[in-house]
Amino acid sequence: MTEAQKKSLFDIVETDRIRFEEPMNKHTTFRIGGNAECFVCVQSIGEMADLNEFCRKEGIPFFLLGKGSNLLVSDRGIPGVVAYFGEEMSSISENDGMIVAEAGATLAAVANFALQKGLTGFEFAAGIPGSVGGALRMNAGAYGSDMSQVVEWVRVLEPDGKIKTLTKEEMQFGYRYSVLQEIDYIALAAGIGLVSGEPERIREAMLDLANRRREKQPLEYPSAGSTFKRPEGNFAGKLITEAGLSGQRIGDAVVSEKHNGFIINEGCATAEDVKRLIEIVRRKVYENSGILLEPEVIMVGD
Ligand SMILES: Cc1cc2nc3c(=O)[nH]c(=O)nc-3n(C[C@H](O)[C@H](O)[C@H](O)COP(=O)(O)OP(=O)(O)OC[C@H]3O[C@@H](n4cnc5c(N)ncnc54)[C@H](O)[C@@H]3O)c2cc1C
Repeated sequence: MTEAQKKSLFDIVETDRIRFEEPMNKHTTFRIGGNAECFVCVQSIGEMADLNEFCRKEGIPFFLLGKGSNLLVSDRGIPGVVAYFGEEMSSISENDGMIVAEAGATLAAVANFALQKGLTGFEFAAGIPGSVGGALRMNAGAYGSDMSQVVEWVRVLEPDGKIKTLTKEEMQFGYRYSVLQEIDYIALAAGIGLVSGEPERIREAMLDLANRRREKQPLEYPSAGSTFKRPEGNFAGKLITEAGLSGQRIGDAVVSEKHNGFIINEGCATAEDVKRLIEIVRRKVYENSGILLEPEVIMVGD
């Protein structure tokens, strides 16, 4: 970005919400990644629309960050603008069993809100460390449920700056997939339809799932969750175990021995280490089983 372009950003977003050369390892659960050239906290739909339009017109790369829990950011960082929704775009409200959650809200906050309101159906998401926006794009899910089962509608910002509401059918949800991966829509909020439940049962279900995660997943290390998508009729972790890759490492990037489906960062892993390990795992699993694993983790940056 040129100095003039950087200065123009101050006309769109207050100066104290723009940072230059911000280390992305502070904003990803992998604790990996070089600097974002320009890191912007967005507090309204208007700001997001203006920022997006400015980047489009000026040919500046634009990346929308959720909670950074499904990302592998390059060691060379991310050129252009990395924008994320701040507190003012993270509200959660309820009307007649329908929770309206803005894109910046965390899934944990939505799950706790549902618990307070005595609404059941969102317990599955309590332990997924992402935002509503990121979860909509990924159709995040766990323990037999996913966003597609509870989302009624999604409000999006279209590339031309208009606001539109998509029905759940229009979201085209599939396994770890939604239309947000095809069209540059920015999710602004979602209507989540839940039903009345017994608060004690909801709390117990959330605790039970949290315990199951702690037992099975290497939550004590930075990671981006499951590194690979689940291949049809199989499990990535099982295929990786069978290929003899448990504990395989490149530098500090390691195939977790606790859960072979996770690559963890044992300290100072670089994005390059993780990428090389991903390729080794894909090749060896393919040689062993004939199945080519697809990364679930999204690679971002140069
Ligand atoms: C320990 C651990 C456990 C995990 N367990 C699970 C699990 O059980 N199930 C599961 O599905 N995932 C799991 N994940 C992965 C991750 O939490 C999910 O994919 C989550 O939905 C990502 O959300 P995020 O806000 O962090 O998005 P990010 O990782 O920041 O971004 C992901 C993608 O979403 C896009 N995006 C972000 N916000 C928006 C928006 N407002 N509009 C449009 N696009 C947007 C980004 O541009 C990017 O392409 C886990 C991760 C970790 C670290």
